[in-house]
Amino acid sequence: MASAEVANVVVIGGGVVGTAVTAEISRHCDDVFLLEAAPRLGMATSTRNSGVIHAGIYYKPGSLKAFHCIRGVPMLYEFCAAHNVPHERTGKLIVADSEERLPILQDLKQRGDENGVEGLEIVDRKFIQRIEPNIVSPIALYSSNTGIVEAEALIRALERIAKSNGAHILTNTRVIGADAENGLATIRTEREEFGARVVINCAGLYSDDVARMFGYDEHTIYPCRGEYAELLPSARKLVNGLVYPLPLPTLHGLGVHFTKTTAGAMLIGPNARYVKSKDDYESDRTDLRVFYESAIKMAPALRFEDMRMGYTGIRPRLAPEHQHTFADFVITHDPIHQSVIHLIGIESPGLTSCLSIGQSVAEMARNVLA
Ligand SMILES: Cc1cc2nc3c(=O)[nH]c(=O)nc-3n(C[C@H](O)[C@H](O)[C@H](O)COP(=O)(O)OP(=O)(O)OC[C@H]3O[C@@H](n4cnc5c(N)ncnc54)[C@H](O)[C@@H]3O)c2cc1C
Repeated sequence: MASAEVANVVVIGGGVVGTAVTAEISRHCDDVFLLEAAPRLGMATSTRNSGVIHAGIYYKPGSLKAFHCIRGVPMLYEFCAAHNVPHERTGKLIVADSEERLPILQDLKQRGDENGVEGLEIVDRKFIQRIEPNIVSPIALYSSNTGIVEAEALIRALERIAKSNGAHILTNTRVIGADAENGLATIRTEREEFGARVVINCAGLYSDDVARMFGYDEHTIYPCRGEYAELLPSARKLVNGLVYPLPLPTLHGLGVHFTKTTAGAMLIGPNARYVKSKDDYESDRTDLRVFYESAIKMAPALRFEDMRMGYTGIRPRLAPEHQHTFADFVITHDPIHQSVIHLIGIESPGLTSCLSIGQSVAEMARNVLA
């Protein structure tokens, strides 16, 4: 696009959220551009996660996380079926190590029920043994609506839809500066300048930096790495599906858990470790034994030699390390430049929520353009 022209919408960041937003908005609107710094869409957090379709149990009732997760689940299952994206409604167990933990499981179930999660039940040892013979636990919360999705295939499907709607997707295009005046934004990349009536900031870990380009300085992203181990192919039959420990308020994640992937791998993780840099995926990796010690509590037959190191991802956290409070997604118009929409802190369940977020943000954008 020549610098003098003005796009209707520029989306910054082609992760699963930016691509879902682009696919949805380009159904209603032409001149939509998606600018992605990396050579391909979805190379950051969107393909470095557990790939779980979360049912919506954990999130504070009334929060954006609860809303978009619950609304997003059926949208995602339907989308995956319609567009041949590998997925499976596996169900999930949250296991307790003693029957005395029943009140914690009941609280979790109550929160899930309040959020409108379907298919939650407290199950006994017999049920657990039937679906997971190698998991030792007397009592668990079972969520039948939880599943898994292949994030890479999901992003490719959204990309195809966006392109077929006429959206322009520019990879290797990092936004390095931006400002806005009289309802028109200017976006600067290393090669060219874009004018835009609406800008949508979906820059993931860097969404706080992109917001600051517009003078919006309310939020800071604290990168929190999640590392995985995995089972060797020969040992994958140890666990059949998704098995989580009880979430503890002092943990920064959901606790190291077993997650089957659509490709048949079995992940163990992720842990949660704050790191200094937003692109520090590999330095000072956690010892494999730490994952082993957590995992054998649920599956005592696990052997250390059946494990190897896996990949890592980085959560775009809005809470610093020693703050254990709930932080919601931030999805907001820029207070000064109403035509700029910021999505900040889209950590888990962002993958599950992507289609629901896409729908809401496309509506916000259409209202600006109307
Ligand atoms: C360890 C881990 C496990 C998770 N597990 C799950 C799960 O099981 N289920 C679930 O629902 N969610 C999960 N999540 C959360 C989920 O992965 C994220 O919420 C989701 O991927 C966020 O997508 P995004 O598009 O906002 O961000 P990203 O995927 O980070 O995309 C942002 C994009 O913006 C680009 N960008 C950044 N700056 C610029 C710039 N200046 N110019 C142009 N482009 C730019 C980046 O290159 C990147 O591609 C997990 C996350 C982690 C880290």
